[in-house]
Amino acid sequence: MSTVLVIGAGGVSSVCVHKMAMNKDIFSDIHLASRTRRKCDAIAASVKECTGVDIATYEIDAEEVPAMVNLIRQVKPSLVVNLALPYQDLPIMDACLEAGVNYLDTANYEPKDEAKFEYSWQWAYHDRFKQAGIMALLGSGFDPGVTSVFTMWLKKHKLKTIRTLDILDCNGGDHGQHFATNFNPEINIREVTAPARHWENGEFVETPAMAKKVEFDFEAVGPKNMYMMYHEELESLAKFNPEMERARFWMTFGDQYITHLTVLQNVGMTSIEPIKYKGVEIIPLQFLAAVLPKPETLGETTKGNTNIGCIATGEALDGSGEKTFYIKNICSHEAAYEETGNQAVSYTTGVPAMIGSAMMVQGIWTGVGVFNMEEMDPDPFMDMLNKHGLPWTVEELPGPVEF
Ligand code: NDP
Repeated sequence: MSTVLVIGAGGVSSVCVHKMAMNKDIFSDIHLASRTRRKCDAIAASVKECTGVDIATYEIDAEEVPAMVNLIRQVKPSLVVNLALPYQDLPIMDACLEAGVNYLDTANYEPKDEAKFEYSWQWAYHDRFKQAGIMALLGSGFDPGVTSVFTMWLKKHKLKTIRTLDILDCNGGDHGQHFATNFNPEINIREVTAPARHWENGEFVETPAMAKKVEFDFEAVGPKNMYMMYHEELESLAKFNPEMERARFWMTFGDQYITHLTVLQNVGMTSIEPIKYKGVEIIPLQFLAAVLPKPETLGETTKGNTNIGCIATGEALDGSGEKTFYIKNICSHEAAYEETGNQAVSYTTGVPAMIGSAMMVQGIWTGVGVFNMEEMDPDPFMDMLNKHGLPWTVEELPGPVEF
């Protein structure tokens, strides 16, 4: 039985809070705070209708550390679940340190003026969290999150060491819009337009954004073009699996998405450099995000499946030589919407955020300091994935997949 305080009221938060309310035996008291109170109230109303559970709501600017500390002291949670944006990670961690409360998030800290996607800022909090006797769990979404847990599960049960790892993220959903992103547009476009980086022979190798394209036939979706890009779990996976020769991340994009993005980039609309317009300073990417469809409005129209998984090749645990395994989850946009009112991209992130929270509040995953998902026992998390809407399968492939 525990009290949790969730920050942020977007699509991911909506799924996580619905799922927490469906597990009242674990999350007895749920509080939800965000910049726009109205959005918290809408989630609370939907949760009440779906589950009968009451959620307390608050308005907060999570970048105001003293206000966050006051809210935490008022609510007295055992865990703060950060489902706002990556920019708020450090102020929320500061507030948790001051109030002495555990912390969880789904995306690494990003400074507003640089697209870096690295853990350095948050890893630097390790000693302070340790001294305060509290725990921070970083990246408990799908990728990062489940992809890290999938990899560590393979390493616990199938492979002694991993030689190569490919993470394949396919969204086969169609939302019927000309151009829209399935999670926060500003973060999504920063991620996609950043140079690609992959891990090879002990270092990150940088290549131009979206330069490497491969067609792959995804189960429950069909053939799709996927592009190599950087994704933050590569950093923690390389840190905790130093034997890996190569680790890459791939994401699918349709031709229509690429065409729109290329034009927007060419005309400067994806820039994060501030410009002056009629005397007002604006950031083109933030303006673009404001005119694009809100991800939380895409649920009703999105049809199809996501298919996200890891292909790992390495030395088999049973001494039978080199083996290759493919571990994945397939999630239906329609089923996700029916259950929580949100499409599968929010669902596949919100469910693992709930499960990571359950691991922490039940004392199944413990520690003092700042941790990544790779450092925790994958088994109880994998069990909960099967029980709470994200079942996974693992199969042995005939050999390494070359692309
Ligand atoms: P949304 O943009 O839909 O929601 C973000 C929410 O945070 C909004 O409610 C927003 O408020 C709130 N917020 C923004 N700034 C502040 C602030 N200063 N104080 C308080 N609240 C604030 O994003 P998503 O739900 O799509 O994504 C949530 C997080 O999940 C992001 O960090 C994203 O990067 C991460 N993510 C992780 C994935 C993974 O697999 N690991 C996959 C997808 C997303 P307002 O309503 O006023 O704008």
